[in-house]
Amino acid sequence: MLSVNDAFALTQQYPLPLAAETVSLTEAGGRVLREAIRADRDFPPFDRVAMDGIAIRFADYQSGQRTFRIAGQQRAGQPPLTLEPSAQSAETGLCLEAMTGAMLPIGTDTVIRYEDLSLADGLATITIDDVQRGQHVHARATDRRANDELLPAGTRLGPTELAVAASVGAATLQVTALPRIALVSTGDELVDVADAPLPYQIRRSNTYMLRAALASFGITATLHHIIDDEQVLQDQLARLLDQNEVLILSGGVSAGKADFVPAVLTRLGVQKQFHKIEQRPGKPLWFGTMNAGQPGLARTVFALPGNPVSTILCAYRYVLPYLRTSLGLPPEPARYAQLARPFTFAPAITYFLPVRLASEPDGRLLAHPLPGSGSADFANLMEARAFMELPADRSEFSAGEAFRIWSTL
Ligand code: AMP
Ligand code: MG
Repeated sequence: MLSVNDAFALTQQYPLPLAAETVSLTEAGGRVLREAIRADRDFPPFDRVAMDGIAIRFADYQSGQRTFRIAGQQRAGQPPLTLEPSAQSAETGLCLEAMTGAMLPIGTDTVIRYEDLSLADGLATITIDDVQRGQHVHARATDRRANDELLPAGTRLGPTELAVAASVGAATLQVTALPRIALVSTGDELVDVADAPLPYQIRRSNTYMLRAALASFGITATLHHIIDDEQVLQDQLARLLDQNEVLILSGGVSAGKADFVPAVLTRLGVQKQFHKIEQRPGKPLWFGTMNAGQPGLARTVFALPGNPVSTILCAYRYVLPYLRTSLGLPPEPARYAQLARPFTFAPAITYFLPVRLASEPDGRLLAHPLPGSGSADFANLMEARAFMELPADRSEFSAGEAFRIWSTL
């Protein structure tokens, strides 16, 4: 049986070869860039007024001038005005009112905020003692230079990235095409969410959980259900394999008499990469590939154990990182927390301990163990919302020790 790390590494060896596609900026939210986005000009593209107020020549201030006659108004979106030099003998210097976002008027170099002025009769008098040359001017190219790389390929397009793309005129973007994914629950005991279950039935929930988890990548997966009949399973999976790049199954991979999934997948030509991992929960996870690496033909199948806690753990520990890699995203940075109390787990396998995370005022992130009653303990997850990965080679874990966590939020 494989260790968690070996199983994870194996999944990462077979990323889907996903094509690039062009989408408009308005449709690009959450997608992964396949091209670098560069600055089309300097950032900012001109010396930009950063506060509403007046623009002056600092030399006038230096030579003792504190009152300035307003010679005009420089607004944003207008070509720059020019401030004529003040007459040597004049009592007042000259200034231009200047608005945030405007080009700094030619002949000026310093901005005084309205808050630091008194205004009367077309004159502005400085009411503060300290004025610095160039203050409140966002100088050209101080943030980025033309042609600098702003967003590398592999960037996920969130709100900030979309704003950056818009500001450099990227009306369309090359992003990774999303895989077609089918979510398949199996089991004769499962009924639809809209149905009233008989005493021996339950409503299926796993595929809804998986669908919501995939939505964070912008993926809209389709939902399917197949009964525990070997022939029906084979026919339905053959059809779904034809139409999707990824199948994520839940149920039917354990040792039960109706657990036909591994045998059927093998018969359909999906190559088993592993079945079973030295972990709890989620030990029976099955992973296989077909036509690996071949664009358009490659298929990936994750068959997750059906117990909801196992399903969610396997999804967050293996399936979502797999999709990240396939989409061209770097691995998510590891997160760690400290155990809030000692914990013991004797079997020599990795234990994913359900934990409730609490951020302490001193900056520590504490993980409060909520072991619950096992992999069917769905209710426990609502309080836990994270798993702590306790290594296989130990059985005693002390309070304050830090381990990796996997959040399901
Ligand atoms: P299995 O992995 O098929 O042996 O299922 C293990 C347990 O998980 C059984 O109690 C199933 O009823 C339950 N289960 C399987 N699939 C689902 C699902 N889609 N939603 C909720 N529970 C499920
Ligand atoms: Mg089953």
